[in-house]
Amino acid sequence: MTTSPPGAEPPDGRASRGYRPPPSSAVARDRFRAQKRRDTAPELALRRLLHARGLRYRVDTAPVPGVRRRADVVFTRARVAVFVDGCFWHSCPLHATSPKANAAWWRTKLDTTVQRDRDTDASLAEAGWLVVRVWEHEPPTEAADRVANAYTSRAARPPRAIRAADPGP
Ligand SMILES: [Zn+2]
Repeated sequence: MTTSPPGAEPPDGRASRGYRPPPSSAVARDRFRAQKRRDTAPELALRRLLHARGLRYRVDTAPVPGVRRRADVVFTRARVAVFVDGCFWHSCPLHATSPKANAAWWRTKLDTTVQRDRDTDASLAEAGWLVVRVWEHEPPTEAADRVANAYTSRAARPPRAIRAADPGP
């Protein structure tokens, strides 16, 4: 028997409620189980390195009130939001694969995830945030460098919009 993962219904809603194609293989089943998990190994490795550099951040937090997207690492004051994207679910250019079984359903689901990512990027940028996306395949030290550089650039030179919005004491 297989378990029914949450959120696996086809986006077009034509199929009956609760429909999903059965996992075609152990690999597909594992992918379902791995979806949306927090505290993944790449996340933990990145957070450890950032912490070791003296950076402090919030974890698994929605940066912008009212925008229901949670970032994996959030620097509130600097307004930097970091997402650690899994290669399969977020269609990494190096490792993206599309399962052969139930191909159309998978294509739609994976495309929808990428579209949502771009929408998230746009929403956060509009709200004055800098978005950093890290692939799970990136060496953690390189990812930590990118994040630290982004943080430093923001901390040293706050964007005009933030200062303008802050009336001060
Ligand atoms: Zn990858």
